[in-house]
Amino acid sequence: MLEAIGAVDWDGLPGPVDLYEPARAATGLRALATATGLVQAADAGSLLAGGGLVHDHSGTVFPAVVVAAPFLLAIARHGHPEAGATALGLLDDALTFATRDGSTRVATPYAEAVPVCCALADHLRGGADLLAERGREGKRLLADAAGHWRFDIQEAFAEGDGVAAFGALAGRFPDGTPAAELHRAGRVAALERVVLLYPPEADGSPDACLSVDGVRPDELAPPAVLIPARCGPGPTSG
Ligand SMILES: [Zn+2]
Repeated sequence: MLEAIGAVDWDGLPGPVDLYEPARAATGLRALATATGLVQAADAGSLLAGGGLVHDHSGTVFPAVVVAAPFLLAIARHGHPEAGATALGLLDDALTFATRDGSTRVATPYAEAVPVCCALADHLRGGADLLAERGREGKRLLADAAGHWRFDIQEAFAEGDGVAAFGALAGRFPDGTPAAELHRAGRVAALERVVLLYPPEADGSPDACLSVDGVRPDELAPPAVLIPARCGPGPTSG
């Protein structure tokens, strides 16, 4: 893991110049990965929370935390228990800060500009087995991540005035008819209203069907991904 941490270009990641300190990200992650007790884990945690991955005093999250998420989950899995608890605490803070932020976006394998909260939620879902074993904190983190749902469209066809889209749902689709962001071919479009026609079945398969009004099937043709619109920046005043 130390090699992988060293291979990341932390200096090249964006972040507010007055808050993000790339050297703290690399040093803090290395220290957390090799921590053998409470004091070392706490010192590493201070580096990471004080400008490395987040800036806890101002509640700011940096794109670096998305890059660091697989390392933090690996530390929670294989590291010293105190280091693991620190890693999960950092992920918790980062998701909380990012959920409030919305304007900080990162590239993911499926879209070019995803809010940090949703990108973090993907990583947390990837560590679901680990988090489920981590008592109340792990379960709460998973539940928080589930609010950042994601729908990967596999097939879209015309139905009435809109489109029926089949695909895979990750996370928990909210009650009602939420607004969504459509990410497709490097573009982001706003969808005012998405209806869940068929939720995933209880057998654990993610297959679901959504209905979207006022779009053409080709506008939703795969590969296309929907995420919650509420994760983006809220409406500006005026
Ligand atoms: Zn989100």
